[in-house]
Amino acid sequence: MKYRAILLFGAPGSGKGTQGKILGAIPGFYHCSCGEVFRNLRPDSELGKVFLEYSSKGQLVPDEATIRLWHNYLDGSMQLGRFHPETDTLLLDGIPRNRRQAELMESALQVRGVIHLTCPEPEKLIQRLQRRAIHENRLDDANLEVIRKRFLTYESESKPVLDFYGPGKVHVIDATKTPIEVLQDILAVIVKMP
Ligand code: ADP
Repeated sequence: MKYRAILLFGAPGSGKGTQGKILGAIPGFYHCSCGEVFRNLRPDSELGKVFLEYSSKGQLVPDEATIRLWHNYLDGSMQLGRFHPETDTLLLDGIPRNRRQAELMESALQVRGVIHLTCPEPEKLIQRLQRRAIHENRLDDANLEVIRKRFLTYESESKPVLDFYGPGKVHVIDATKTPIEVLQDILAVIVKMP
């Protein structure tokens, strides 16, 4: 069985998590943030250490380990009765993050669409991340050098995911608007998705 899914896609700070949390509260949707799953690992666990090693440098965690964790997380969510794949659409936030991950997930997903949150000025997003670093305990948001590396990783590794799914699936949303306006734009797109 394939999971029905909508991908929340965009640079760091583009609002994937903010929108994913809100949309995930709507019946029939289940928000799955890969970064959050990683951050909830015990820091002294095997994978927790790997996560810190890579995320502290603004790099992606290796693909096979990431996809395995994602599968395990969803299995757990189903067992706990939180995610119902027969009726729910998965809101994937931060995964797949490169072409290889998209390929590894291909057999498990029926992608309804990709929401591409865009911002022409990275400086705006960097400001958001620096504000977030103060409120949430995120080491990768605190250091400007790490932030810049994450943007480079996004451009070189993550952006090609858009080509993988093709322009017919991708919906461009202006991420610079207020959260409620972005939500409105996303909802207008989602209600029409197959
Ligand atoms: P942001 O989108 O602001 O970078 P995330 O919480 O989505 O924040 O990701 C934080 C970090 O977690 C990433 O920089 C990366 O190291 C790791 N990570 C998250 N998702 C993935 C993924 N799908 N593959 C590999 N690493 C990931």
